[in-house]
Amino acid sequence: MGMIRLKNVSKFYYSKGIIASGISKVNVDLDAGEFVVITGESGSGKSTLLNVISGLDTYEEGEMYIEGMETSHYSAADFEEYRKKYISFIFQNYNLVSSYTVYQNVALAMEIDGCDNAEIRRKVTEIIDKVGLSEYRNRKVSKLSGGQKQRVAIARALAKDTKILVADEPTGNLDSVSADGIVELLTDIAEDKLVIVVTHNYDQFKDHATRVIKMHDGKIVEDTGAAKAYEAQYHADSIGRSNARAKRNDESGITYGTQLKLGVRNTFNLPAKFLLLLLVFLFVVSSVSAQYVSVKKQKDTVSEQGWNNFFANYDPKRIVVEKEDRTAFTKADYEALENAPHVEKLVREDIVYDTSVYIENEQFSFYGYMSELRNLDRELDLGSMPKADNEVVLCGLDDGWTFGDQPDALIGQTYKVSTGEGAEHDIKVAGIAMLPESEIVNDEYPESIIYFSDNMIAEMRKDLYASNSTTTMLINSVEEQLMAGRGGLVVNENVPEGYILLPTSYDQGFKEGYAAGNEVVLKCKALYYEQELTLMIMGTYGEKTFEQKTGLTDLALHDGEIYISEMDYRRLYEKGSFQASVFVDDTKNMDGMKDMLERGGYHVLVLRDHIYNFIDSDILSIIQLPMAVIVCLAVFFIAYFVVRLILKSRGVYFATLRMLGMGKKPACRIMRVELVLVCMIAYALFILFVCLNRIGVVSAGNLVDYIDYLKIRDYVILAFILLFMAVLISGRFMRTIFKSSAMGTFREEA
Ligand code: ADP
Ligand code: MG
Repeated sequence: MGMIRLKNVSKFYYSKGIIASGISKVNVDLDAGEFVVITGESGSGKSTLLNVISGLDTYEEGEMYIEGMETSHYSAADFEEYRKKYISFIFQNYNLVSSYTVYQNVALAMEIDGCDNAEIRRKVTEIIDKVGLSEYRNRKVSKLSGGQKQRVAIARALAKDTKILVADEPTGNLDSVSADGIVELLTDIAEDKLVIVVTHNYDQFKDHATRVIKMHDGKIVEDTGAAKAYEAQYHADSIGRSNARAKRNDESGITYGTQLKLGVRNTFNLPAKFLLLLLVFLFVVSSVSAQYVSVKKQKDTVSEQGWNNFFANYDPKRIVVEKEDRTAFTKADYEALENAPHVEKLVREDIVYDTSVYIENEQFSFYGYMSELRNLDRELDLGSMPKADNEVVLCGLDDGWTFGDQPDALIGQTYKVSTGEGAEHDIKVAGIAMLPESEIVNDEYPESIIYFSDNMIAEMRKDLYASNSTTTMLINSVEEQLMAGRGGLVVNENVPEGYILLPTSYDQGFKEGYAAGNEVVLKCKALYYEQELTLMIMGTYGEKTFEQKTGLTDLALHDGEIYISEMDYRRLYEKGSFQASVFVDDTKNMDGMKDMLERGGYHVLVLRDHIYNFIDSDILSIIQLPMAVIVCLAVFFIAYFVVRLILKSRGVYFATLRMLGMGKKPACRIMRVELVLVCMIAYALFILFVCLNRIGVVSAGNLVDYIDYLKIRDYVILAFILLFMAVLISGRFMRTIFKSSAMGTFREEA
């Protein structure tokens, strides 16, 4: 039996309810070594017969045998496999990859088979020689004439090296000189293959064909020259050849190296397409990174914008420290902290730091946070630096309102300062520093600050301790709670150290009817210390004796006050500073700072970790992240459709690969290489832009801001997001390409 045998084969076309007969009851035997020409007028069934033989079309009746095997039960996949193994096609319109060179087109067939490189080089060179295109070897196919293109197609068919070569009107587009060349070539090949050519121009082939089949109305009406002579030779040949082929072709397939090579080649061989794709991916890169930055930035800003319950100054750089043994800070402690690495600033009197104070007189009032003069880091605009302990510097916004109409008139004036807890002190304004309005950032006004001397601050700290601790007095075995400050426990110059002066109401509790000469115990319980003082009652005052005993006037204002000496008051409340704040120079290393301070013998409170946010950050991130994902998805789909438009013509390319026997997977990988490569080039350009921006060669306004914001890790994450997108886009694109069959794509194009 021959290679192909058709027995009573019929093929019908069904369209719009009409059944047309393509071929009917065709019987034919075809064998290797034959050069079969099928002729007949248009519509006689030539193409149908060729398509059935090459497995492109199914048949409805009869049986076709391939090397003796029945095919009536074959599925589409079986026929695909058959085409891959047995059939090489030559088309009227060539179907070459026009952006590849002659060599690349021919080599493609062997690369898809997975042949090794040395063999490809040797054989492709030989084949190109054979079809007479040696001098065009490295020319792009798009620059060749029709006849040359058809030679490349034949060369490719030879490289594919199948037993059967079919050609439908291969000379249809050629002038007669070129056509003659093609006929010769085909004749040559037919020595050991089965070559089947369909033509309506029999004259071109009549000198060379070994067999002519003439068709009419779907039937073979003439069949001359059926060759018996070649049969014996074929069998001897084909055994050796098919064994050789089996070793090389089966399952080995295209190598990863070749897939990579083709992907890279496809990326660059059409410059216009490459630039368009690059543009699309630059768009993808920039919008995805913008989204990434905005999510990241939003998260960080939110965490910086928080409040806490206890501290007015919640600077993220601030770390509050107390000594492990809860004693007051010494000079040595301060020095050690100030000189510790990464410490930008030390605030010694932490308790006053979160306290706002008023200074006022009849003409002017000013409200601000307290700070230490040593921490003033601005030039004065008016006045001079303080010389006395009670002189201060005011710092506030230069808005024409904070300092009134005549700021310089404030210098040298005396004001009362109060922490709002009763005690008052006199201070003088020595200097003023004005903040320009440019310090207003995002509608946030800079805080006004009043800079005090260390002694003044210690003085006010004492007031704060007095009003913020619990003071009790044990008198006549009764303990009662006192309030420090006006209306409660007050310093009086007339009271000597060790004594206490009480209102007359206390006399009643004593047996003798008067309190003088008895002892009281004052006890102060503060956050960091407890202090007891035993004092002698020097006497009591009443309405008449008030002015004489206290040196004060107007009892109504001082009703119920208890007086002690300044020294005793200080013993109770001036115990030094127990809490300081360290400001670090870099918020990134908070944990490291914390460790270091703890090892240095401090309890540490990193304020930033104890901040809660007025807009719950969770809510924001719940919205923000999906928004970013949605935007990225939108970018993905835009990119996908644009890529699809740009790559529309690629359908033919991939159909060509499939026609040459490439499977879906390697084709997808080739596509993926291309898109990933373009994507990474776009990303590299983006990085380059970032670098140029950093060194200041180009500038992109507020883009700089967010570019600087990203860390190496972010760039890596970004690269992966983009890579993932490129892979996704290529996957979707290939799915649409593979929806129709390779032959379907060709027919559509034709
Ligand atoms: P040829 O190649 O000799 O011109 P074809 O094999 O293309 O002839 O066509 C044979 C017959 O089958 C014609 O009558 C044609 O009308 C019909 N035919 C071919 N293809 C189709 C098709 N896709 N649908 C319907 N009828 C078809
Ligand atoms: Mg036809």
